[in-house]
Amino acid sequence: MTDTAKINLLDFDRQGLENFFADLGEKPFRARQILQWVYQRNVDDFAAMSDLSKALRARLSETAEIRLPDVAMDQKSDDGSRKWLLQLADGNCIEAVYIPAGERATLCVSSQVGCALNCSFCSTAQQGFNRNLTTGEIIGQVLVASRQLTADGISCNENGRAISNVVMMGMGEPLLNFDNATAAMRLMLDDLVFGLSKRRVTLSTSGLVPEIDRLREACDVALAVSLHAPEDALRDELVPINRKYPIKELMDACRRYIGEDTRRRVTFEYVMLDGVNDSDAHARALAKLLRNVPAKVNLIPFNPFPSTRYQRSSPERIARFQQIIVDDGLVTITRKTRGDDIDAACGQLAGQFQDRTRRRLRNIGVDVQDVAS
Ligand code: SAH
Repeated sequence: MTDTAKINLLDFDRQGLENFFADLGEKPFRARQILQWVYQRNVDDFAAMSDLSKALRARLSETAEIRLPDVAMDQKSDDGSRKWLLQLADGNCIEAVYIPAGERATLCVSSQVGCALNCSFCSTAQQGFNRNLTTGEIIGQVLVASRQLTADGISCNENGRAISNVVMMGMGEPLLNFDNATAAMRLMLDDLVFGLSKRRVTLSTSGLVPEIDRLREACDVALAVSLHAPEDALRDELVPINRKYPIKELMDACRRYIGEDTRRRVTFEYVMLDGVNDSDAHARALAKLLRNVPAKVNLIPFNPFPSTRYQRSSPERIARFQQIIVDDGLVTITRKTRGDDIDAACGQLAGQFQDRTRRRLRNIGVDVQDVAS
């Protein structure tokens, strides 16, 4: 049993750890030592941290811990992708997905248990909101995945890293868990932790304007925005937070986020829903909307889930839609299906709440099927 009264040191970014050690009357460099032990040498036992004084080791053992999520399930697909169901100390479960593609290996991580935003085409929304993840639970997903992949001898590039990119595109709205999400991302960027470049960490948001404005200061990562409709009436329906922050305000925030940097772009995610947002007129409206925004567009074929009223647009429709916006000069990709199993992860992450056993079993059934297909 883990002792939840102990302080989980995964909850701290480097500054947080320095503060923690300052409170103990220790020097700031203790933070570096801890980060190296945990994230580089994969040592979690304070007693084994030989460059800390014996007294400090004893004190840490009594009051602190390195607590990772438990792996409740580990599903591997034929194409190398992998989905972990991770159980948290309170029994809730979340999911993280690993998606290798050549020299790139992306981990998709969750930021909340459930989600409050109620987007009509997203399965996470179906289960409502339970709670924010702690910083340790967010960075813990990356740590568990990278340790497991490394143990399996899997690396994506010559420097031996298991994970080259992280996307905050799992369960939850990361900007509604701002402090913990940004602290976890600062750890992802920290040289002593995962050392990822800021272009390789992407935060995806449904479009919370004030938090987009705060993000760059807190952690300057790549921004993806779940747009899904080129006009307010339709977006109000698909992404209800649009009623609070309509498209014009959102576009202004995106332009502010990019600022003067001509090399940067916001990625706009657009889920392709048959007969809903996928007409030629929608494509033209989208192209027009994005003319004055440094943008690239990511078309996502809809991933169905039980009880959804939506269907995926046909490949021909998606190709035609893409052609229209490309002809207008937009950089666009359609998120490729390497088997439906990878895309199945997107928008289908369910995780489980401890108190919803039936739904949990159903969801596991669905997820196993999707990953195996
Ligand atoms: N809350 C954040 C991040 C989580 S969702 C956000 O809204 O961006 C990650 C991406 O998956 C979003 O673009 C979301 O709109 C998309 N998505 C959700 N459900 C989906 C589904 N069923 N099929 C395809 N994409 C989906």
